[in-house]
Amino acid sequence: MDEFWSHCLAHFERTLNTQQINTWIRPLKAETAAGLVSVTAPNGFVAQWVREKFLQEIEQLARDYFPIATKIVLKVAGGGNGRLSDTATVNETLEAVPALMALPVQDMATITKPAAEKKSPGKPEKAALPDESRINPLFSFDTFVPGKANDLARAAALQVADNPGSGYNPLFVYGGVGLGKTHLMHAIGNRMVQSNAKAKVKYIHADRYVSDMVRAVRSNSYDDFKRRYDSLDLLMIDDIQFFAGKEGTQEQFFYTFNTLIEDHKQVIITSDTFPKDMEGIEERLKSRFSWGLTVMLEPPELEMRVAILLDKARLEKTSLDEGTAFFIAKQIRSNVRELEGALKRVIAFARFNKLPISVELAKEALKDLLAVQNRQISIENIQKTVADYFKIKIADMYSKKRTRNLARPRQMAMYVARELTDLSYPEIGQAFGGRDHTTVLHACGKIEELKATDQNLRRDYNLLIQVLTG
Ligand code: ADP
Ligand code: MG
Repeated sequence: MDEFWSHCLAHFERTLNTQQINTWIRPLKAETAAGLVSVTAPNGFVAQWVREKFLQEIEQLARDYFPIATKIVLKVAGGGNGRLSDTATVNETLEAVPALMALPVQDMATITKPAAEKKSPGKPEKAALPDESRINPLFSFDTFVPGKANDLARAAALQVADNPGSGYNPLFVYGGVGLGKTHLMHAIGNRMVQSNAKAKVKYIHADRYVSDMVRAVRSNSYDDFKRRYDSLDLLMIDDIQFFAGKEGTQEQFFYTFNTLIEDHKQVIITSDTFPKDMEGIEERLKSRFSWGLTVMLEPPELEMRVAILLDKARLEKTSLDEGTAFFIAKQIRSNVRELEGALKRVIAFARFNKLPISVELAKEALKDLLAVQNRQISIENIQKTVADYFKIKIADMYSKKRTRNLARPRQMAMYVARELTDLSYPEIGQAFGGRDHTTVLHACGKIEELKATDQNLRRDYNLLIQVLTG
């Protein structure tokens, strides 16, 4: 490999997490000539992201590395926005013929498990596999609130909806429960059907896919099943981690997956984990999942949680003021589904008691929920956890020393305190050795800014929140 590029890789390995490296850095190819490094990205999307987020860093690395001025040019493979040639993998594709009759026992077992979605009882078995898309019109881009936690995933989803099959194939979306994976998938389906009513689009939960397939095999209608999938323009498989251990399904799916991708038909997959970290999934599938673009949904930040609450309230035609939205958003941090649940409770409580929604009312409505959460998160707890995490003394949280290795953790603790407690800026300042509220404001601004640019700090932050709220 190019020596300068190895140097860059080593640098990014220290500063980025695995997912980021795999998504943005590893797919790049670099070549160095005198005074020029050309970096090739597999597609326009990666190129754009690298240009925005990493190019400056690469330029800096080049300045330190080369004795002469060196220019970095960023190119897209093939000059277009297609991905790097897949010729190396085409032969492999042909090798796989599904050994369906050898379905392992655990695949058969899923048929007796309750299916993920309810079937209408009167319909014959075959009707469980209609050609319909199963797309939920309520999950659209219009109702998907944007924010930092989903900016990349949302941008990628829009790209895919507008240019299916052309570049980011498959689109692999991963993230924890209730963060919007399913919503985003349906949004793509809706948008694609809107612009092309003839598009053959299908959404299916992985669990359902498994049982449908097993049923098809049993009733000798597997060819129909397969044909139906192979002829889709867009296939969306939700929660693919449910394929774990189902070797027969994986083998068949591998085949359908390759057929679709080779025909430039779009495939979208969601999972609770990064492809390479999935357990019980064949290596060759995992490796194919990384062919296209892998994007993550993160837990929503405070502002986004507020925006979601206001949006949902508007959809429910309920008036919710910002103060109350902030109050709820500060309490419910884990995911959007819980946020929605909390809002529903507040709305129901208000209707039942015929009272307008207010902070007081929300406090009352969410009493049980909050009692459980608030017990653990005191400002002392935050200070101690953050100090431990950065290996400094808790006394340094209150001390006046301003060296960076102490100031940064202190700022982080203030920021986390703002996120996780109800305390005001002056109160937080007070708890940090009697500091002025402007110091706290400044600290919060600083961390907010660094969160956007410094991957390590963002990871520290996410870990701390997890530890404190987990
Ligand atoms: P996941 O599939 O990741 O578990 P879902 O897509 O089912 O999560 O989302 C859970 C709930 O939260 C859904 O009701 C969804 O509409 C809502 N939701 C998630 N993200 C957003 C968002 N960015 N804007 C609005 N609603 C969202
Ligand atoms: Mg889901």
